Amino acid sequence: MSTDRAYLDHAATTSVLPDAADVWRDVSLTVGNPSSLHASGRAARRVVEEARESLADDLGVRPSEVIFTSGGTEADNLAVKGLAWAAPSRRRRILCSTIEHHAVLDPVLWLGSHGYDIDWLPVDDVGRVDPHDVRSRLGDDVALCTVMWANNEVGTVQPLARIAEACAEAKVPFHSDAVQAIGRLAVDAGLPGLTSLAMSGHKLGAPVGTGALVLRRDADVVPLMHGGGQEREVRSGTLDAAGAASLAVAVRQSVADQEVHAARMNELSERLIEGIRGVAPDAVINGDPEHRLPGTVHVSFPGSDGDTLLMLFDAAGVECSTGSACTAGVPEPSHVLEAMGIDAGIARGSLRFSFGRSSRSGDVDLVIEVMPGALDRAFRAATPRLRPVR
Ligand code: PLP
Repeated sequence: MSTDRAYLDHAATTSVLPDAADVWRDVSLTVGNPSSLHASGRAARRVVEEARESLADDLGVRPSEVIFTSGGTEADNLAVKGLAWAAPSRRRRILCSTIEHHAVLDPVLWLGSHGYDIDWLPVDDVGRVDPHDVRSRLGDDVALCTVMWANNEVGTVQPLARIAEACAEAKVPFHSDAVQAIGRLAVDAGLPGLTSLAMSGHKLGAPVGTGALVLRRDADVVPLMHGGGQEREVRSGTLDAAGAASLAVAVRQSVADQEVHAARMNELSERLIEGIRGVAPDAVINGDPEHRLPGTVHVSFPGSDGDTLLMLFDAAGVECSTGSACTAGVPEPSHVLEAMGIDAGIARGSLRFSFGRSSRSGDVDLVIEVMPGALDRAFRAATPRLRPVR
């Protein structure tokens, strides 16, 4: 039976897990700056350090390698700019995949306008980077290589271990944005060759404004912010004890039931894909069918417009996303689909459905129920009206 409304945009943000909300509230209601030396400060410090240990344990790294940040964007900026700035002056080339989130893409482009050369790593038609290609481009003029763990639009998962291995052999720092991957895949942040990894709390059941950068002890990083010298002097600013504690709780839960959760997400995705194929045989499912993030389904409906479709689905009770970048409400063509070589006309009519913990099979039923009407209206809106002949 279908539900009344279906929220299928969990890749954009998902609700806070009850246990993470409880711990956030409890810690928030107690006073204490983790840098203060008195008893309240020491208690707050203990909360932060316990959260750090718990996160490190779940991610397969050492506690001293966890740097708390305000989210994925900050973690990515710190890694990309910080590692590039710290590289010796002969290293001025940056390898970056063409399908990165703007949290990586934009700092890389900014570095490109400040004296660094950007060497874009292409992807194939399902959005995968070729590790051989990465290997062939590495050299002692490379400051940094950055390839995301899993893509936020089409859900393609990258061959991370092989890319990290190539970077390790070339002694090039390697950063990965794992914002979409953690909580959906088994992520080993201790992967040999990986220098840093970005994560975000609000994608996995912790509050917005929480996140972390996993950073190897021996990595040289220039901080973005200077101040009190917290977090190994890499990230100054008063530590958010409540945020750190709730992030640790959400990650613990995600890691504990990752396999069961992924299986549920895959099942819902498969049902949705089957339903879409039944309603719209021309629809194209984008991304890698073999290496796909559980719970992310990206589909193009040739001849339609994604924004129109999104609004029609919303009016019918289904909340999804076009998946493409939308800065301050201005839609842009998706650089990810363009990099995958998807025809612009087809890319225009794309939607991303992403499942999360609250998703039910009734949500899939609702999508399939309202899809014929939404598509029909979207196609009619996209077809130019003929002027009456006088
Ligand atoms: N990286 C990826 C892959 C994302 O999907 C997002 C958010 O959509 C971010 C980075 C930014 O994370 P945050 O919202 O925590 O700043």
